[in-house]
Amino acid sequence: MSKQTIKAAITRGNSPIEIADVDLDAPKAGEILVRIAAAGVCHSDVHLADGNLGTTRWPIILGHEGAGVVEEIGTGVTNVKVGDRVAFNFVPPCRQCKECIATRFNLCEVAGEHAYTGNLLDGTSRLHEKNGTELRHFNFVSCFAEKAVVPAGSAVPVQADVPLWQAALLGCGVMTGIGAVRNAAKVQIGETVAVIGCGGVGLQVVAGARLAGASKIIAVDMQPANLERAKKHGATHVVDASKKNVVADVMAIVPGGVDHAFEVVGRPETIRTAWDVIRAGATAIVVGLAPRGVEVSIPAIEFLSEKGLKGSLYGSANVPVELPQMIAMAGEGRINVADVVSHVADLNGIEAAFERLRKGDGARTLVIIDEKIAGSLVGISRA
Ligand SMILES: [Zn+2]
Ligand SMILES: [Zn+2]
Repeated sequence: MSKQTIKAAITRGNSPIEIADVDLDAPKAGEILVRIAAAGVCHSDVHLADGNLGTTRWPIILGHEGAGVVEEIGTGVTNVKVGDRVAFNFVPPCRQCKECIATRFNLCEVAGEHAYTGNLLDGTSRLHEKNGTELRHFNFVSCFAEKAVVPAGSAVPVQADVPLWQAALLGCGVMTGIGAVRNAAKVQIGETVAVIGCGGVGLQVVAGARLAGASKIIAVDMQPANLERAKKHGATHVVDASKKNVVADVMAIVPGGVDHAFEVVGRPETIRTAWDVIRAGATAIVVGLAPRGVEVSIPAIEFLSEKGLKGSLYGSANVPVELPQMIAMAGEGRINVADVVSHVADLNGIEAAFERLRKGDGARTLVIIDEKIAGSLVGISRA
């Protein structure tokens, strides 16, 4: 098929999202066309819309957590066929760069370079406004739209028993959260964990800590509703960060500090909190995405106690291997995706979801783009 018109959410930056008709080119070699079923709204979408990650990718179609059905494949595509149900991997690995050869696929240099310019892997865009203005892709996915053209490496097959709305949320929030526990921190049975920030991703860190067999899982958040959700996901203790001294409270639960702390907010104060609540010799993991230019300060004397601070991108995961595992576990009911959904919307509701994320209000907003293929929304209690 040649180019077609689709509805998409255009972000021009520092202005509300606009739902408009845009042109989507046919997939080129190594690319696929996907009809989008559903998408999750993630804080990194808001960061890009607000200019916190630079302004060179505006105007852009955001959305990097989604799932759908393959409608067309470009030449040379062998991993999926037309009609397959797929979830998106927003770092399609080139499998040839230094990081990929070392199986650190989440750090693929080629994908990183093109993600930063907002193009597909050949350095060009498939998206244009009706007046011809080129639109940028967001991390190869751009799923706040009826359809997307993505690299074949961004597609991960979804088994029949997992609804596509669930598969959508597995692609970023679940992989990032559970992956950080599994790959970045390598939490062991019996260890203690603090999770600073329990929004869409933080809740999956809590879930990952439970799956890993952590003994104490301390959820920290300013929103009582998020703390309630954290309890459902396996938190053994909650600390209301709006009322209490978080560090003293965590230390009262685990004297001397926890074995692992995860920061899932992306602010200097909360990164510092994660540092302050770990025991000597432990490492705080920063999952939250901070705006460009933000710096963190920590007391350098404490390096004497062998404390560490480490980042985790996309769950530090081998996504082509681990995302199918997460999808299978969701199919078995062992990963609860429904409970992180605080709001359900359509494309027109994305701006309101951004507003909630700016305020730290609620957890995940699930955007249903094609309800005929998204699957039934079992288990979601809407706000
Ligand atoms: Zn995300
Ligand atoms: Zn690579």
